[in-house]
Amino acid sequence: MDRIAVPNKGRLSEEALELLEKAGLNAEHRPDRALVAPLGGGFQAIFVRARDIPELVADGAAEFGITGSDLVADAGRPELRELLDLGFGACRMVVAVKDASPAEQPADLPPGSRIATSFPGVAGRFFEELGVDVHLVPISGAAEIAPHLGVADAIVDLTSSGSTLRANGLREIGTLLRCSARLVAGPTAERDGSAGRRAAELAGALESVLRAERKRYLMANVPRDALERVREILPGISGPTIVDVLDQGRWVAAHAVVEADRVYESIARLKELGAEGILVTRIERLMP
Ligand code: AMP
Repeated sequence: MDRIAVPNKGRLSEEALELLEKAGLNAEHRPDRALVAPLGGGFQAIFVRARDIPELVADGAAEFGITGSDLVADAGRPELRELLDLGFGACRMVVAVKDASPAEQPADLPPGSRIATSFPGVAGRFFEELGVDVHLVPISGAAEIAPHLGVADAIVDLTSSGSTLRANGLREIGTLLRCSARLVAGPTAERDGSAGRRAAELAGALESVLRAERKRYLMANVPRDALERVREILPGISGPTIVDVLDQGRWVAAHAVVEADRVYESIARLKELGAEGILVTRIERLMP
């Protein structure tokens, strides 16, 4: 049985469980607040704090984990191997100062500046590499308030829309990291061949869901004599699938996978050829 450490609350938790479910690993037998749930496929979910996941996976308490790359980077554990960028939970880790500060970039911060952050690992390495000697003020959340309380000159924190920084009279002066949720594996997943295969199998299953989300399956009845042009419009993965329609032979059905953002254009061009009965469906998983 392989364990997957999953965040126990918040948006990251919901999106991770939804992704696992779409990949066929469903925590449906999870009684309320249970800390462990079978997922099927020889996997078990353990529900823990997102921040604890890098350490638990690096220590081998779980073979795999789903958590933010900000937390993976902050833990700084070399045993962790990133298997897949899951795309959700996207944000940036930034340095921000009070609007009135003269600093335009992190290197402008004077030596001895106090930096409030819940990411002391990433922030410490960043300022060390920059050659600016700062004093870190570790806090566990809401760093935005620290400059106004007079306990910090700048913060290192996450932002997505930037509205929280603005609402707190803060201004970004640099980006440390672009973050999103990741599937990570620990040392046990690398140790032997079968564990390595399990890692590839899990990453492949989740990737098939992410890939499918950007695609649609398009079906249309088209005149048989337009097939060459249909192939140009619907190249699919290895050409469209053509199925006979039981009429007098004038029509065929063309099926193909298309990029979601090209569906509109593909339909317009198929209609120009006289296509009828056009259907577009979502795809659950796609393994090319
Ligand atoms: P913002 O959209 O920039 O106003 O961010 C709203 C709040 O959510 C801020 O406190 C951020 O630190 C936090 N935040 C934004 N994106 C993420 C994320 N992907 N993971 C964790 N916290 C986030």
